Amino acid sequence: MNPYTGRVSCLRASWLSGKTRTKEYRVSQLEALGRFLDEKKNVILDALAADLHKPAFEAELSEIALCSNEVNYAINNLYGWMKDEYVDKNLATQLDSAFIRKDPFGVVLIIGPWNYPLHLVLVPMVGAIAAGNCVIVKPSEISSCTEKLLAELLPTYLDQDCYAVVTGGPQETSQLLENKFDYIFFTGSPGVGKIIMEAAAKHVTPLTLELGGKNPCYVDNSCDLQNVANRLVWGRCFNAGQTCTAPDYVLCTIETQEKLIPPLRQAIMEFYGPKPKESPDFGRIINDKHFKRIRALLDSGRIALGGQTDECECYIAPTVLADVKPCEPVMQEEIFGPILPIVTIANVEEAINFINSRERPLALYAFSCNCKVVNQVLDSTSSGGFVGNDTMMQMTLITLPFGGIGYSGLGKYHGKFSFDTFSHHRACLLRSMGLEKLNYLRYPPYAHRSLGLLLSSLDIKRKGTCTLL
Ligand code: NAD
Repeated sequence: MNPYTGRVSCLRASWLSGKTRTKEYRVSQLEALGRFLDEKKNVILDALAADLHKPAFEAELSEIALCSNEVNYAINNLYGWMKDEYVDKNLATQLDSAFIRKDPFGVVLIIGPWNYPLHLVLVPMVGAIAAGNCVIVKPSEISSCTEKLLAELLPTYLDQDCYAVVTGGPQETSQLLENKFDYIFFTGSPGVGKIIMEAAAKHVTPLTLELGGKNPCYVDNSCDLQNVANRLVWGRCFNAGQTCTAPDYVLCTIETQEKLIPPLRQAIMEFYGPKPKESPDFGRIINDKHFKRIRALLDSGRIALGGQTDECECYIAPTVLADVKPCEPVMQEEIFGPILPIVTIANVEEAINFINSRERPLALYAFSCNCKVVNQVLDSTSSGGFVGNDTMMQMTLITLPFGGIGYSGLGKYHGKFSFDTFSHHRACLLRSMGLEKLNYLRYPPYAHRSLGLLLSSLDIKRKGTCTLL
């Protein structure tokens, strides 16, 4: 017997009861989620510090504030989002009512990773609740303090008939996935994403995959290199580099590389002092396995800055690797640590070819004082998101969709995009029982004259077509 079948069935019964459908119910649960974030702020900060040595500043900004913003935005806009959307009609349906109903899917499963262990389960959960679904969240077992906190405290705020937290790792998740869900939302690595997609396929369950990859950052010759360095170091070292949208590597000419290294040194020094290990503002690698994996990447290129490590603390210093070759280990996998490799290229065209010859990234960054260059990179490449002249700031805009393309993921969320992701857009046409004479046009026995009239009542003309000629 599958250990999760009973729980899934209870949630399905709650969903079928219609309890989650009213606006008032959804708002009450979103408000409860908001209270959880507010009232448990200190315990949340403690759990994140214990899991990732996450500085309180970073945790409050990226985990708590961004979730609270989603809650408030959903509550502020829910009425408009939920409304039926009336659509244009053809001649045959002029007297009818045609609209899109935003229906909840039913019971949805949200699986999260360890790097933003609160944000990456709660932000999708806001969308799922707003859309009227019942939800099971499965946080990462690796960020165990946050997992425990979510399992113990979230149910004390939310309606337990409709929302549940399941704990455990790959084995438990595999068992959970044997059950039929109506939507699956997964954030994690591309390898596990494929396993989730296979499990979803067995029940033909729609899904979102928020995956990772290597985010390129092109730096043009015409830049204020200190500003570039500040923004790069911030993006690369936030959460000790364990961010899916972090700039993963820099592409620039050899001259720019040499000019960029001193400003990078200055940025690291200004942000974290001469001994970043002692800075309260610099995090740690999640565990020994990831520490060893990242440390092995330090052999690529030459260490231009940093490079120090401490296994006891899972500490890796902010590091810049110069003259890195595309074939070296650091360029074969997502780094997910505070290491910034620089790969030199001859010009922007070569940078674009380099980016286009690899998997499409979750985020792409381009720095230049010349907006034509930024636009050239934007126009000639493909990625989940794009930022000109900064890193990671796209995450702060709830009005932008967040998600990958190709190997970096499938689907999008944040703000209204989350609501739409967790809603089935149901096509509705309500016809009147009268005017049956008009329907004879489409009934057998078929008459050629009727076909002409019927076709013209359904016809869509190209704009600018003159019907008199
Ligand atoms: P992961 O894929 O190892 O784990 C994610 C979740 O899947 C966890 O809850 C885990 O318990 C579960 N899981 C792991 N193995 C499983 C299996 N065999 N069967 C079923 N479930 C399994 O990812 P991670 O190491 O926790 O997170 C890091 C990855 O997540 C990176 O690749 C990063 O880029 C990506 N990520 C992406 C985003 C995004 O928004 N696109 C955000 C954060 C992290």
